[in-house]
Amino acid sequence: MTRVFDEDLDAGFGTRAIHAGQRPEPLAGAIMTPVYLTSTYVQEGLGQNKGYEYARGKNPTREAFERNVAALENGRHGFAFSSGMGCLDSIMKLFRSGDHIVCAENVYGGTFRLFDKLLQNYGLTFTYVDTRDPQRIADAMTPATKAILAETPSNPLMRLTDIAAAADIAHQRGALLVVDNTFASPYFQQPLELGADIVFHSTTKYLNGHSDMIGGCAVVRDDDLAARLQFIHNAAGAVAGPFDAWLALRGTKTLHLRMRQHDANGREIAKWLVEQVGAENVYYIGLPSHPQYDLACRQMSGFGGMISVELGTKERAAHVLGKVRVFALAESLGGVESLISQPAGMTHASVPPDRRAALGISDGLVRLSCGVEDVGDLLADLEQAFEGIPGTGRTARPEARNEATPQAARARSHV
Ligand SMILES: *Cc1c(COP(=O)(O)O)cnc(C)c1O
Repeated sequence: MTRVFDEDLDAGFGTRAIHAGQRPEPLAGAIMTPVYLTSTYVQEGLGQNKGYEYARGKNPTREAFERNVAALENGRHGFAFSSGMGCLDSIMKLFRSGDHIVCAENVYGGTFRLFDKLLQNYGLTFTYVDTRDPQRIADAMTPATKAILAETPSNPLMRLTDIAAAADIAHQRGALLVVDNTFASPYFQQPLELGADIVFHSTTKYLNGHSDMIGGCAVVRDDDLAARLQFIHNAAGAVAGPFDAWLALRGTKTLHLRMRQHDANGREIAKWLVEQVGAENVYYIGLPSHPQYDLACRQMSGFGGMISVELGTKERAAHVLGKVRVFALAESLGGVESLISQPAGMTHASVPPDRRAALGISDGLVRLSCGVEDVGDLLADLEQAFEGIPGTGRTARPEARNEATPQAARARSHV
């Protein structure tokens, strides 16, 4: 368990992002936390050590990262894991056979797969509900319910859960509220401040931000809950390696700068997409047309760079995915580079087709992770990728490749 230094909780977000959890290295004063590549620590005598015995339990690089993320989430204790899924799997080990979990119906495909294909076999039971409506959460609670799990905004439909309302429902019944904060990042949303008990991340995404590692992190405030998680962290052992922790620690130093640019680019691109396909086909929480825009403004301080767009058919999705040049066709999100994907066939392929259809994850749904490139280039890329899209009247014009379209010209003027 890694508790934040008390002084780290006072500074502003950017200052915490850069400094929290880190102190000059004692041997030479190195400003950057070293990568402690070690499995064990030499002990001075029997029963005498510096607080470090074996590196599954504690590693100074991992601790610095854990303290850093805990400070960014306004929490007290952080736990870094080998992946987002490893993190969630360990959180679920707080529960036992017979316990019931109320889970948002639209969650990351891997979250659903973990619950449905693995944890169900160990006697945990799950009810999936549309957590946009707090009443549905309340209605799904049973005497056996030990936790509510929400992902907000959700992947890929950008649905929101009212965190404060969900926390009230959980706490009235003695259950925990667990929030996957991967999409918003602590820069835009701090679930612990709104009453959540555990916040977790796939640090693979925005927290690391550079698409060069896989990791997860959980943060809590409560000391007893932290002690239970620490036991699981060490006993089950899905811990982050020191180099991955170091990469992610370097990543969080620019989280505030990156998130501002993801947000600015996301807003511009969402506006452009609305002009192309209509507001009803663009899922972006920063659009006033989003049905939960008011809630977004209440519980988040920005909207970020995640957008989904309904293109109607798989052919149209394939057309756009096949033509992009700056956006890369790939799973994942939250890196500095822009990515584009088709959730039905990629990130959510593990969700059964009938379930996908019921949720609205259609074959024509395309998800964009807007990176931090120059927005004019991103808009121009989408402009050329949308040219000639089948069945929309956007026919390819032979001169289109050379001639600036009005949209592209407008896009460039934003740079
Ligand atoms: C990617 C992702 C996960 C899983 O994290 P990994 O690091 O890939 O294991 C969980 N939740 C959300 C919202 C994600 O985007």
